[in-house]
Amino acid sequence: MGKKKGLQPRLAVIAVLTVIFFFFAGFGHLYAAARWREWLTAAGLGRKVVVVDPGHGGADPGTLAGGVKEKDINQAIARRLVTNLRESGCRAIITLEADPALKPVRVMRAEENRENLYRRRRLAEQRGALLLVSLHVNSSSDPRVRGPIVYYWPGNSASEKLGRCIREALQRRTAFPCPLRPANFVVIKSPQVPAVLVEMGFITNYWDRVLLCSDVYQEGLAQALLEGIKDFSSSQEE
Ligand SMILES: [Zn+2]
Repeated sequence: MGKKKGLQPRLAVIAVLTVIFFFFAGFGHLYAAARWREWLTAAGLGRKVVVVDPGHGGADPGTLAGGVKEKDINQAIARRLVTNLRESGCRAIITLEADPALKPVRVMRAEENRENLYRRRRLAEQRGALLLVSLHVNSSSDPRVRGPIVYYWPGNSASEKLGRCIREALQRRTAFPCPLRPANFVVIKSPQVPAVLVEMGFITNYWDRVLLCSDVYQEGLAQALLEGIKDFSSSQEE
């Protein structure tokens, strides 16, 4: 009986020590994983700021077809891209979330729209961003036209480089030719921050629309954009 009495406190001590051991082992594992991720991303995106701009939003649906609104696709892919960027260790910002005043609350006049686009670009400049990516979906009177197009502002040579990196990643992932074109869009016209506008596909093409609304394609596009951004970031360090 005496032996049994001594056994219980000993078992309790062993149990407590076991719990403590597994607690610290688990914590150590999490710490090691965090350090490992930090080390892996240090050479790539590190703690850089990347601004993702989902085109339109709020009262401005963008282009429409087949009951689908452009703004919803832009927003869904922007969220996926930002999640991927943050997992890669960088500080990713969505324009419409960083400054809710940018979300249109009513149909804007042409000059208000221009001012809104300018402010999206200014946000990236004020945050000292590595780059800005504005996400859109295209439309055409010809329902056969499909595939992504990347636009850059020719006044900033780094924008062309960023456009090339993203175009190549999109070509690898989607197998579309994905043209790269110069454009004077207000949102990307920044001498300070390399910026591109990506038209991710055509809402007016049935198959593009189906793809752009699907989880798999949205994630594929977000991954392609991440790859392009990483390639650009590495090229800037060379
Ligand atoms: Zn658009």
